[in-house]
Amino acid sequence: CGIVGVLGHHEVAPILVEALKRLEYRGYDSAGIATVNAGKLDRRRAVGKLHNLSDLLVHEPLAGKAGIGHTRWATHGAATIVNAHPHRSGPVAVVHNGIIENFRELRAELAEKGLAAETETDTETVALLVRHFMDESLSPRDAARATLKRLEGAFALLFLFDGEEDLMIAARKGSPLAIGHGDGEMFVGSDAIALAPMTDRITYLDEGDYAFVTRTGAEIYDERDRRANRELSKIQLDA
Ligand code: GLU
Repeated sequence: CGIVGVLGHHEVAPILVEALKRLEYRGYDSAGIATVNAGKLDRRRAVGKLHNLSDLLVHEPLAGKAGIGHTRWATHGAATIVNAHPHRSGPVAVVHNGIIENFRELRAELAEKGLAAETETDTETVALLVRHFMDESLSPRDAARATLKRLEGAFALLFLFDGEEDLMIAARKGSPLAIGHGDGEMFVGSDAIALAPMTDRITYLDEGDYAFVTRTGAEIYDERDRRANRELSKIQLDA
């Protein structure tokens, strides 16, 4: 339901939780974050209010300067820890807003290849698909691109990868996504309000766009894989 991502200079866990708080108004039943630290991808998730996630992070901190976060409003699968985002398979973690309409077909196809689903969600299928393409030696960028071509439905997606502390991949189809520009830092959010404390310089992805985001900027592509220039605007938000 709510998405946030940060490639920053500082520890991101508290920044992610703070941004998720700003998305609470959208409603949610569980929440989670993932970071990459010393090359290692890891995550923490909790059911219920955000303070449950904060409490968990006190006991089991998550270090790292690159991370993604999510507040979930369940559509497929109960509001449990296992079904909470970020979903992970092998080298990739993903957060997702919306619904992957063809996830049952994809899930069956992936199970045949030996990648069995462990959750009830449509979202996990996306992680499994990226993992499948990476198992076939595709780079994170190519694996994400190949995955997006297989997905039907309305979604916003944000990926983070094991061993990649300077890369997030964002995609938008039917659910909005904003990219925030900082000073050698970059942000992604399901709306600009989530990013308001970090930056007021925002680029909205167009329908079908995806973006390779690093600390130096965002490379945006349209649905037909052509480099796209999307406007960077200074947004005005009431405090
Ligand atoms: N369909 C996904 C799920 O149920 C994402 C829901 C959302 O937008 O929060 O896990």
